[in-house]
Amino acid sequence: MLRSILLVTSFLALFTANGQTYDPFFGSVVANYNYDSILANLNQFEAFGVKEVGTTAISNAQNWIVDKYTSYGYTNITVDSFTYFGNTTANIIIEKQGCQYPNTYVIVDGHYDTKNGPGTNDNGSGTAIILEIARLLKEVDTKYSIRFIHFSGEEDGLKGSQDYVNTVVIPQSMDIKVVFNIDEVGGVDGMINNTIVCERDEGTPLFNNAQSAVITDELVACVGLYSNLNTTISFAYASDYMPFEENGEIITGFYEYNESPYAHTSSDILANMDPAYVHEVGKAACGATMHFAEAYDMTSILAEACDSYISPSGNYTWTSSGVYNDTVTTIAGCDSILEIDLTINTVDASVTLIDSTIFVSNTNADSYQWVDCDNGYAPISGATGTQFTPTYTGNFAVIVTTGSCTDTSACNYVQLSNINTLPEEVIQVYPNPASNELHIFSGNYTEYHWTISDVSGKVISTGEQFSSEQTINISRMRSGFYYLNIRLVNGQHYRTRFVVNK
Ligand SMILES: [Zn+2]
Repeated sequence: MLRSILLVTSFLALFTANGQTYDPFFGSVVANYNYDSILANLNQFEAFGVKEVGTTAISNAQNWIVDKYTSYGYTNITVDSFTYFGNTTANIIIEKQGCQYPNTYVIVDGHYDTKNGPGTNDNGSGTAIILEIARLLKEVDTKYSIRFIHFSGEEDGLKGSQDYVNTVVIPQSMDIKVVFNIDEVGGVDGMINNTIVCERDEGTPLFNNAQSAVITDELVACVGLYSNLNTTISFAYASDYMPFEENGEIITGFYEYNESPYAHTSSDILANMDPAYVHEVGKAACGATMHFAEAYDMTSILAEACDSYISPSGNYTWTSSGVYNDTVTTIAGCDSILEIDLTINTVDASVTLIDSTIFVSNTNADSYQWVDCDNGYAPISGATGTQFTPTYTGNFAVIVTTGSCTDTSACNYVQLSNINTLPEEVIQVYPNPASNELHIFSGNYTEYHWTISDVSGKVISTGEQFSSEQTINISRMRSGFYYLNIRLVNGQHYRTRFVVNK
């Protein structure tokens, strides 16, 4: 591409343009944008010589580009041949599938054919930049699909891009989000190369121009966020985005601000360029590609569970709080990494009885409610602390709540020392061991409340009695030790242990 630039805007304020903000993940990828890789790519591109269509040099460059993508791990590589003026050449198309919108494409393109010289600037610079973007994004998930396209035949009149639009874009009704063209961004040796031209569509058809202006503003913002370059906006002209533009697609592009006097001559070589500038343009292009394709690192999830949590993939069960990673495969076949910030609430409802007071073991729970096991686990009004001293003899438990999790302790029998215990002779319990029936003879005491509990304090059965003799059916109780608790109407209490033996 060779042309005069008409500057249509002044320099823009950076970092705030278009409301875009710095994405730390994009920044971490751009930080790996490698100067040595760019330099090596430029040197190799130059070494092939003059890459005019029909030459061995362009065939060698074509094979080199394919080999580079293969070395990066790409497998969806298409060498799409076409013929004009009696020569056959090829566009190289590399597809990276999007995770959310696999059928909508961000095209990042630049031509690799040259004219009269090795074309290290026009367009080894764009070629080197696109290769490095592709290297860095190989393992980065993007919502949109990306096609990296290295067009041929550009210098002979946009032959490759026109062929691609005619034979792929139009027949397949290809859904293109944006075409991002990078052509001649090498800078000029000896000049201060600190500005990049962002190109927008100002030609016909007109209906896609506003969208191009929006996306070019986004490109401007990306330059400010991910490189140290200044920007200016100009119009798109005479490069591979034009056949797309004429087809109604939304385009944008990069072109150097200091225009090289060497394009399309044998002096278009690295020595006349500014490779540090190419590196900065590449960083901006990498950030913009991630922005357009909506690259993402991982999805963060806040989760809370009682006792344990099964990961979304089903592959893990976690039983303690922490930050975990899980990987799920999306419909597009992308491995989507999830970061799970997990809170596990474990309720410890153990208690200790000391004298007449019950203490909880876990004093860090959210809330406590003490209950009367002998009264259907009814809450005891005002008893919500980490310890409990009952005012009457009986069986008591505590309901412990942490987060959404709750558990109830075992019942603990508390016998208050200021209440008289009846001598055993007064109330007789038999037989002992018992198997199916338990008989109680209570003499003059004819009105009382009784409870049978196991050794852990769990209440098995309970009832009221209004005569001196009764028989309790214990046929459903298992063999073991049990307590019979009797509370008389006057508050006096009696307790004995008995054995069930089946
Ligand atoms: Zn060019």
